[in-house]
This record gives sequence, structure tokens and C-alpha cells, in this order.
Amino acid sequence: MTSEFICIVCPNSCRLMVAENGGKFTVAGNECPRGEKHGIHEYQNPTRMLTTTVAIAGGTLPRLPVISAEEIPKIRIKRCLEVLYKMKLSAPVHCGDIIVKNICDTGVDVVASRSMKRKEE
Ligand code: SF4
Repeated sequence: MTSEFICIVCPNSCRLMVAENGGKFTVAGNECPRGEKHGIHEYQNPTRMLTTTVAIAGGTLPRLPVISAEEIPKIRIKRCLEVLYKMKLSAPVHCGDIIVKNICDTGVDVVASRSMKRKEE
């Protein structure tokens, strides 16, 4: 089976053709070895960093930016976003605080990517 991906490792955006035959992979279209590694990973288990915002009460802004501590399987991202969109935090929050531990049993924590003070009343 052959699949096509755009390599997102660098801005060159090479068009990768990944073919699998009996568990062996061949990658074409990559201009460097990093593309081969990325293409095989993308074929087997694509993962992405998750970045979004979560509602926060009492802060200087209405939403807090958050990020996954590691990449998450791409097929789990939608479910993780649903969990985060339903949450409401309370200020203050410190950059790096764990917002959700082991989100959706991925083994990955979601953390605050900035601090948020309480809004002065
Ligand atoms: S294959 Fe290499 S050169 Fe091409 S986009 Fe990927 S990292 Fe960049």
C-alpha cells in the first residue's frame, strides 16, 4: 500500500510517497533523511502537539493557552479537544501547571503555556 504525505519537518514541504510491503517501508520524494523517518512515522502512527485555549474565570483574559507536554496520536486529538473545550479554569494559573493529567488516557499531560494572574477587581 502507498500513501502520500507532506513532510512537515522543515519549510521545504517535500511530497513524500510512503510504500509498505510486508512490513518494509520505502520512502520517495524526501530531500533528506529526516523526511524518510517522518514519512514512516506518519504512515504508522501520526502524532501532533496539541495547542488550544481553555476558558478561565477571574483572569486577565477569558481564555488560557495550553499545550500537550508531548505529541498525541492524531486520532485522539478531537476527543482531547472536546474535553478541553468543556473545562473552565480559575485564575491564577502558572505557566507549566498541569491542566489535565493523562488526557484521554494518552499518557500525556496538558499544561498551561503561559501564566494568568487574577484580574484586579
Ligand atoms: S524531507 Fe527533509 S528537506 Fe524535505 S521537508 Fe522533510 S525535512 Fe525538509
